[in-house]
Amino acid sequence: MPSKKETIAINKILEELVLISGLSGYENNVRDYLIKQLKNKSLNTNTDILGNLICTLKGDPKLPSVIIFAHMDQLGFIVKKIEDNGFIRVERLGGIPEKALASQDIVIVNNKNKLIRGVIGNKSHHATLQDEKYKVTPIKDIYIDAGFKNKKDVLNNGINIGSPVTYAPYYKNLSNNNVCGSSIDDRAGCAVILNVASSLIKIKKRPTVHVVFSVQEEFNLRGVLPVINSLKPDIAIQVDLTLTSDTPDMNNSSDVELGAGPCISLFSFHGRGTLNGVIPHPSIVEIFEKVAKSKKINLQRSVASGILTDASYVQFANKGIATIDIGFPMRYSHSSREVCNLDDLINLKNLILGVIDKISNKLQLTR
Ligand SMILES: [Zn+2]
Repeated sequence: MPSKKETIAINKILEELVLISGLSGYENNVRDYLIKQLKNKSLNTNTDILGNLICTLKGDPKLPSVIIFAHMDQLGFIVKKIEDNGFIRVERLGGIPEKALASQDIVIVNNKNKLIRGVIGNKSHHATLQDEKYKVTPIKDIYIDAGFKNKKDVLNNGINIGSPVTYAPYYKNLSNNNVCGSSIDDRAGCAVILNVASSLIKIKKRPTVHVVFSVQEEFNLRGVLPVINSLKPDIAIQVDLTLTSDTPDMNNSSDVELGAGPCISLFSFHGRGTLNGVIPHPSIVEIFEKVAKSKKINLQRSVASGILTDASYVQFANKGIATIDIGFPMRYSHSSREVCNLDDLINLKNLILGVIDKISNKLQLTR
């Protein structure tokens, strides 16, 4: 059971991370925050041309090296057209669910990095026709009202075609250490690996570990690839959400529950055009299972279609990389109110630390 102190600490970090707007390709504010946090722990970082943030903790060079990564970007929109009357049209960036958009609070990041608040318009109820009542408005008909008088007013406020837009940053605590936020995917993963990095400082005997906060995952699932190509790790651990099936709308399609512990993905697959997925390396699965058992952490098992992460591409880099997707249970993915549990995050961090501790020369990566 995580201590109250640990829960308070991760709650604070997660809240701060979620309250930053960081669209795919525009991760700068999230990156700056993380650099500051790592610097406070005397950890050095560097970035690459895409904006990936890399924190390398050097260890025994004779042991297989590890990359642990989570994406710092979030999905959202890009300004596509500014109407003469000041309303703003947008294009989707990432898997934005159109049915979750009516009346949403959003922010537009202007050319001075200032957040301009707006709302997605929802046709007045009194004027809604019978056949419109149960219809989802497609993205092409969606518009943002930020209170501007006309096009000139929009431009004068530093907004133009190409400006990034996200859900308005939002965070709140629910009962039983559950939390709700606008970008739990994957700031919760960032919070977990940030804690992993600071805990690793104290551990002397271990492999080299690269803790990486990656970019553009929600855009094209390949933002982390330059890091993989330059660092050439032997093992890759990807940290992101695992879908729960414990809400009334998920029809018990899996056994994954919120608050019941971290998750290991045994199979992910995405067909439509992508044709990719991850079947994790058996030796890494074995370590995770052993460590969970010895640390008495309940490890939930996930098999999911329609889900994909950067890890699908990472596994094919270089000579091949022993890859695994590890997650925290999460509800309401890609909506503006995603829900996760703080104890799950702490248990996930402890699990990862235990796994790093078990990486030895005896580990069989070739098959
Ligand atoms: Zn994600």
